Amino acid sequence: MARLTQADLADLNTSFEQSSPQDLIRWAKKTFGSRIAALTSMQRAGNVVCHMLYELQLDLPVLFVDTGVLFQETLDTRDKLIERYGLNIVTLKPELTMEEQTAKYGVLYLDPEGQRQCCFMRKSEPLIRVADQYDAFISSLRRSDGGARARVPVLSLDAETNSVRINPLVNFSDEQMAQYLADNEIPVNPLHAQGYATIGCNRCTTPVLPTEPKRAGRWRHLGPWSQYCGINPTDLMNPVEISIDLPLELIDRILGRSTDFII
Ligand code: SF4
Repeated sequence: MARLTQADLADLNTSFEQSSPQDLIRWAKKTFGSRIAALTSMQRAGNVVCHMLYELQLDLPVLFVDTGVLFQETLDTRDKLIERYGLNIVTLKPELTMEEQTAKYGVLYLDPEGQRQCCFMRKSEPLIRVADQYDAFISSLRRSDGGARARVPVLSLDAETNSVRINPLVNFSDEQMAQYLADNEIPVNPLHAQGYATIGCNRCTTPVLPTEPKRAGRWRHLGPWSQYCGINPTDLMNPVEISIDLPLELIDRILGRSTDFII
């Protein structure tokens, strides 16, 4: 094993700024082979990535975390994508139902510290439990969503799952995304049309006013202290501070270099 830091990815990230989302997805599959999956929460950008996977005919699993308290519309969107594109969408679940969790810990999502604990158990932990099967995940973060995502790199690292995150849509604008969805008649969560700019658990998501930031509808009851669940590490941490361990041969493949011998 060898150490891969965010700094090691700097040159690659610079060159990837000019790459199309499809080229980045192809590169990711070629580089990580069977040890890569896509992540989606069944929101618009995730659906775009699902459609690109279908068009590119790339055989890789799409992981979806069902927290047990999602909107029915979100689950219906997942089912439509499976039906239309034949994708291998794998639904991951938390260990405890929300009822069991509440009986054990109380209603966690009513204060910022409890929210972090609840999001960890219901969103991050299901992914962490399968993470040893993968070295990389394709996510769908976009800079135009603003906030912590305004400077998200194409490639970042996740220490929690010891994996590389590939964000092929970082430069996809709102207009490009709307056009892509319309041109390809991709199923979209109907809640978006009802004022939900972003969509998470039904306990913690509300619609937003046209004048509000997109994420104002997430954890609105907690005020400005909670904006992200933590399943995307760059939302909570400066990516520069993150590093992971991968086989040297894989790091060489990622960085496009080859080693003839090991000292
Ligand atoms: S969004 Fe709310 S209900 Fe969902 S996991 Fe986080 S705190 Fe819990």
